[in-house]
Amino acid sequence: MLHADQHQLPTEKISKNAIKVIKRLKQAGFEAYLVGGGVRDLLLGKSPKDFDVSTNATPEQVRRLFNNARIIGRRFRIVHIIYANDIIEVTTFRGGNSNQLKVATPIQRDGKRYEVQVNQEGMLVRDNSYGTSIEEDAQRRDFTINAIYLDIQSGDLIDFHGGLYDLTQGVIDIIGDPETRYREDPVRILRAARFSAKLGFKISKRTVQMIGPCAKLLHSVSPARMYDEVNKLFLTGHAESTFKVLTALGLFTELFNISPMLLNSSICRSFLSHAFASTDQRFAENKCNKPHFLYAIILWNEFIWNFYMMRDDLMLSANNIDYKDLISYLASKVVIKQYQITAMPEQIISSIALLWRLQFLLESKNPEKYVKETTGYHAFRAAFDLFKLRAEFDPNLRSRVEFWQPYYDQCKADAERRRLSDNNRRNGERRERERGGRRRGGEQRSERRNSNGGNRRDNGNAPRFEENASDRQNRISKARNWRKSMNLEP
Ligand code: ATP
Ligand code: MG
Repeated sequence: MLHADQHQLPTEKISKNAIKVIKRLKQAGFEAYLVGGGVRDLLLGKSPKDFDVSTNATPEQVRRLFNNARIIGRRFRIVHIIYANDIIEVTTFRGGNSNQLKVATPIQRDGKRYEVQVNQEGMLVRDNSYGTSIEEDAQRRDFTINAIYLDIQSGDLIDFHGGLYDLTQGVIDIIGDPETRYREDPVRILRAARFSAKLGFKISKRTVQMIGPCAKLLHSVSPARMYDEVNKLFLTGHAESTFKVLTALGLFTELFNISPMLLNSSICRSFLSHAFASTDQRFAENKCNKPHFLYAIILWNEFIWNFYMMRDDLMLSANNIDYKDLISYLASKVVIKQYQITAMPEQIISSIALLWRLQFLLESKNPEKYVKETTGYHAFRAAFDLFKLRAEFDPNLRSRVEFWQPYYDQCKADAERRRLSDNNRRNGERRERERGGRRRGGEQRSERRNSNGGNRRDNGNAPRFEENASDRQNRISKARNWRKSMNLEP
């Protein structure tokens, strides 16, 4: 324990809402502490991204105390207390140790569910066994540096596992037996990598040496949770260092559908490092990084390598290759395999395929022919960003970058103009609504929506890629027959 006068945690940086939540819980007779990333980052002199509160109140008791509270999660129930952009995460003290958990079976004789369930691999599939003290709670947290509690009233820091020392040493150390803890929740493996990359910390020997043997456990994590974890790994400003840590730990190929042979090639590594560095740069400039772009970059080499291999095979055996079909067949093949690891939303899947398809138009020897089609897509700018990244490693593409750059600049300027005019329109509508014209405002909006739906930007002269039902049916059966004749149908 460190008393308030023994440390210099900048308490003024703590979210006022987190303080409000803790005070209200205490007034209601519960214990409540600040814990986790908030305390860790403050001690490191960083600005925390969020604040976590730990309490002995159950989720229901917490919810009753706050109007703005929502219980979320089934496997691990927590309460979100929502103040506009600031969400305070409140968790109830967890209890029990891993040995006790192992003997639990999913369903009790009386048919009730246990609050803790462990599957055959030792994975916690439900973890709502509540403890009575922070000491018990600390034992169930992941790393020592994440298990430091701040009592905001006294200012004391309570540290059961040497987290304060590990913070000074720059070490990530798992609490308890590493294998058991990874079996309970394999995502802890990714969290170790994430904190190592984000904080620039070493992973302790005992924590790191079980990562390799336990890496396959990641396959048992739900792909939806994996999708969220991958976004946290790569879209929060530390993608380049995360890539280094993950490849050093041999985890990158567990997360992405990319063959180890490709990943080991220096050109592929440099391409990815460079792409991640520019993702981090965008993050630092407050620009948005979208998951579909991230996946399009990461899987690009796998996709294009498969494309060249299959194209070359086909050239030997077929007279005419339908490139459109080949591209869409391979794009789905690569993306669907990825979907089994990280379940990306459907919209993202189609956006990745579109970014790849546009690469072929951008690369065309006669780009003039495709200007209207290519720039007509909303995805044109993102596709060009990917193309520019590729051009940094492929001098043959540079003349095409010069060709497309003015169109890109034009699209960017148009988008900015549209954004400003949308803002003006929205402000106008808001003012109108405030004057009592609420109904008319709604009708105008829906008319506008109807007149410009779909994915493509309506720039007046861009040709539309539309097909009627029978054309589409024809195209699909042609593609199927072609795949059958090539023995490509699964
Ligand atoms: P950041 O919010 O900066 O990503 P964090 O450490 O606060 O980092 P959260 O996901 O917000 O991460 O989790 C809050 C705290 O909950 C963690 O600090 C840790 O104590 C605990 N925790 C989160 N996930 C796990 C897990 N899988 N196993 C054990 N403890 C966990
Ligand atoms: Mg947090």
